[in-house]
Amino acid sequence: MTHAQIEREAQAARPERSDARSGSRAPARRFAAAERAIGAREALADCRLCARDCRVDRLAGELGLCRAGDRPCVHMAQIEMGEELELIPTFAVALSGCDLRCAFCIAGARSWDPGAGEAIPAAALARRATAALAAGARTVTILGGEPTVHVPFLLALVAALPDDAKLVLKTNGYGSAVSRQLLQGLFNVWCIDCKFGNDACAARLANAPHYCAVVRENVVWAALHADLIVRHLAMPGHLECCWQPIAAWLGKHVPGVKVSLGTGFWPGWQAHRHQELNRPLSVGEAGRARAIAIQSGLDLVE
Ligand code: SF4
Repeated sequence: MTHAQIEREAQAARPERSDARSGSRAPARRFAAAERAIGAREALADCRLCARDCRVDRLAGELGLCRAGDRPCVHMAQIEMGEELELIPTFAVALSGCDLRCAFCIAGARSWDPGAGEAIPAAALARRATAALAAGARTVTILGGEPTVHVPFLLALVAALPDDAKLVLKTNGYGSAVSRQLLQGLFNVWCIDCKFGNDACAARLANAPHYCAVVRENVVWAALHADLIVRHLAMPGHLECCWQPIAAWLGKHVPGVKVSLGTGFWPGWQAHRHQELNRPLSVGEAGRARAIAIQSGLDLVE
């Protein structure tokens, strides 16, 4: 895509400025998103959108670990009821491509393949989301794969959505300061998935270096800049090494944060490669996971 095309796309996504003489209010969020869109696309030329820090030129076809190009495919866009109660019904948009390699990813094939699904223009998705809101959806949720891999598209989508839509970003928390800065103030709710409680498990199960420091930095930042829900999917055999330290850290450093604890682990995708993950969570482990949350003083939400 040429710079002129990028300019035209950003111009098309840019909302009208309000006319001060007419007294209409400025569409602040849409305008902020559109203003950032060009800079965000240029960031793809030296991609540092996540902690992988690949520094590849995605506009020129170079690929980093996520293998994502300059625009995403959408592998799901529909009403969902399986999220936290305060967020549903939500119109969920799932973008393909991810910067983690979790062996147990429930959507592994679609998440890891940035070409899965179809390329849908942001404006068309926004129209579907807006219709869903009018029909009773409470929120619009953007997820993946990992959505922060596609920050320019997120900005184009936000720029095309109503200013009063409640927007939720569901992320793995592996994004960088670059992506945080571009997204600041645009999503009402950040849902951050805290998967691992130590770097050894993160490296072994998701090939994610420096995992704990990166995710904790994002959690602290999100707590300051949005409504935050921290999610954790309890994994068999990982209560003491992963969930316990996550819960203890949250209780100490982000007291009062909402925590959504999942106990429905399913040994899908490549989980069979790791012996301890080759089964669902037991009833006893689910009870132990909840006990850890309570002992850590966490505010569990359904
Ligand atoms: S989004 Fe992350 S994994 Fe993908 S190219 Fe950029 S830095 Fe690499």
